[in-house]
Amino acid sequence: MNHNKTISASISETNHAVQSLFNDYVVPTYGRFPLTIERGEGSQVWDVDGRRYLDMGGGIAVNALGHSHPELVETISNQAATLIHCCNLYHQPLQGQLARALVDRIGSGKCFFANSGAEANEGMFKLARKYGHEEGRYEILTCMQSFHGRTMACIAATGQEKVKQGFSPMMPGFRHVPFNNLEAMEKAISPSTVAIMIEGIQGEGGICSADPSYLIGLRSLCDKHRLLLLWDGVQCGHYRTGAFQSYSSILGDEENESAFLPDAISMAKSIGGGFPFGAFWVREPYQDILGPGTHGTTFGGNPLGCSIALKILEIIERDQLEQNVVEMGCLLANKLKGLVEKYPGLIQGIRGMGLMIGIVFHPEISALADDPRPVSLQMVERLHARGMLTIPSGIQVVRFLPALNITSSEVKEAISILNDTLESIES
Ligand SMILES: *Cc1c(COP(=O)(O)O)cnc(C)c1O
Repeated sequence: MNHNKTISASISETNHAVQSLFNDYVVPTYGRFPLTIERGEGSQVWDVDGRRYLDMGGGIAVNALGHSHPELVETISNQAATLIHCCNLYHQPLQGQLARALVDRIGSGKCFFANSGAEANEGMFKLARKYGHEEGRYEILTCMQSFHGRTMACIAATGQEKVKQGFSPMMPGFRHVPFNNLEAMEKAISPSTVAIMIEGIQGEGGICSADPSYLIGLRSLCDKHRLLLLWDGVQCGHYRTGAFQSYSSILGDEENESAFLPDAISMAKSIGGGFPFGAFWVREPYQDILGPGTHGTTFGGNPLGCSIALKILEIIERDQLEQNVVEMGCLLANKLKGLVEKYPGLIQGIRGMGLMIGIVFHPEISALADDPRPVSLQMVERLHARGMLTIPSGIQVVRFLPALNITSSEVKEAISILNDTLESIES
């Protein structure tokens, strides 16, 4: 017993030591949970104290194949031994292959490679401005509660006041309108408008899906006013909803889907499975608007990143993970619906598609009222205590964004942990 005590004391010292390095040396831009993750395998991670967690957050929809997937480890290691980086002054074998693989999955066009979601979105903004330049059109309309990244242009594009606070003046050329409101969008179009940008499912905004009729309506608005329709697929893309891009899942049938294709799509998060990687696809006939010298990035599309992204696509296809997302998403949603019925005093409902699911809690729960922090954060912490990672969104939503290869036993474990947590709050 004494022995155990010594171990646990020294173990929490490790955790403490890691956290004090952050406190002393890392710019405090994030509200971090007091958890120190040391390693991962599939959909499990372990903290420095050896405690295991089921990872239902997937690093915010990033770990497409879970942690340390053996084939990804092998790919990274082989490519690292072959060529990590060579810069975009030259050709290299993999970038064109990856661009073709993405084009095959979306439609005729071309791809540009970057390193993050914000950078992919920045590329689409530049595309739109270049497209409208000669006519003096530059304005991009986005939606309220949207999230598009943290760079200066991306916070200007984001329809949430909290990301802009303290950083004025905002970059001009962005305006926000209510989401899923076609009339408001149409009214907002001015002679300067050049593009509309939306997320298919607002992720940071609390897992809110666009309506099918909204998408079809936006497409015709854009056609009518010669606007580019820019699609931020950073969180909801890359098979997260069971299709490569979420508009296919939202629209359902093929007829609708072929009537709807954005003019450009940004990708990041899951595309690199944890390796920092981003891209945008741009549709024919706009694919050559950004010509030589107009845009660039040192690391974008480097051989290491491309090898990883290609391998992830190959594994998703080979292992039919598209189907797994649909099946596991259904299982998760059905079981969550059971919990909504069992705990009507705690959960208001669930939202989302495939493996992008939001649990909407009551914003005020009396058992949690002693703690002034939002219900979402308190829930996420209580789930940590029972061994599960999830992602908060706003004040009342907790997100599941797990690996695309999650198994049914892991889904059942997630539900059981959530059930136990809710039960302990109710009693
Ligand atoms: C995460 C996210 C971004 C920003 O991506 P970064 O890689 O953090 O720059 C942009 N748009 C959406 C919808 C996101 O979820």
